[in-house]
Amino acid sequence: MAELTDLKLAAGTATPGPNEPIRVVYVMGAGRSGSTVLDTILNNHEDVIGVGELVHLYIEGSAQKENCSCGAARDTCEVWHSVRERWSELTGISSITAHERLMTKFTRVQRLAIPEWHRLRAGNPDPDFAECLKQTHATYQAIADATGKRVIIESSKSPLRAKLLSLTPGLDVRLVHLVRDVRGVAWSRMKPFAKSKEGGVPQDIRPKPIHISVGYWLFMNFLSEQVRRSFPDRPSTRIHYEDFVSAPAQTLKEIGKVAGLDYSSVANRLLAGDAMIPGHLYAGNRVRTAGPITLRSDMAWTERLTPNQKRLAWLLAGYKLRQYGYERLPELTPNSESDVLAARSLRRVA
Ligand SMILES: [Zn+2]
Repeated sequence: MAELTDLKLAAGTATPGPNEPIRVVYVMGAGRSGSTVLDTILNNHEDVIGVGELVHLYIEGSAQKENCSCGAARDTCEVWHSVRERWSELTGISSITAHERLMTKFTRVQRLAIPEWHRLRAGNPDPDFAECLKQTHATYQAIADATGKRVIIESSKSPLRAKLLSLTPGLDVRLVHLVRDVRGVAWSRMKPFAKSKEGGVPQDIRPKPIHISVGYWLFMNFLSEQVRRSFPDRPSTRIHYEDFVSAPAQTLKEIGKVAGLDYSSVANRLLAGDAMIPGHLYAGNRVRTAGPITLRSDMAWTERLTPNQKRLAWLLAGYKLRQYGYERLPELTPNSESDVLAARSLRRVA
């Protein structure tokens, strides 16, 4: 069951007005947890725009030539073209290279930006920090201006970026911590993908050994929990991918409470088998370029991981899996909410 904290800010279902902070519903957690599918479905609310993994704008640099989910190259996608122009107007900066450097400095998970965050805590922020926040706000203002939407769904996943956004004046950030069983994540990361611009794979993806994936999963979920704890007054929730595919209406309701939006109509359309249209997802899992999607579960790991791999995952991460409600030997049960979804819940929901 989703954990829900402090809904004071999430009261009602009104979208923010032009003089209110831009609302960002930020999905964080480990990669391969289904965030692109979630982002795509959340985009189908009329008041929101899904932008995918905006963090890649800064991590990979402006030279990255991946396609937008609308099918156009990022350079030619009308929305991102307008966003870039508006951002330059707002900041007075013509190139985002300097912004990339700032974002890398403060949000790169690989180095954790420990000195910079320490200075901030000590009340002596890095001189670049205020400028970084100003340029960050301009990014979201530019998206709001270009799309006419003041609720933005972002699935960058990086908890450090979630922290930076939560400190940015003028943004009303709502946090969604997305968790998927580490064994599903690890199996997904064991599959290699060849580079395909059209398929949304910017570079060859090599298979990752299971112990590396488990360590990565533990670390990203630890950081996500820390960020939620750091901002106890912000509406936030933890959801599980397995719950989402087996009972999507319930999960969308929980996210809707945090986002301050009524997702019942989207849930009904999803359960009726309607196609879900992605927004302009800047980056994310390759499914974002596949057009309309139908939600389905992926429990292949239960059959494809070897007994030794399953044992190792449980040895390293069993304590956390138990805490999250996952079973060592899950009992697969038919999905009860819809025949459309061949989903099977693997989580013990209290
Ligand atoms: Zn686009």
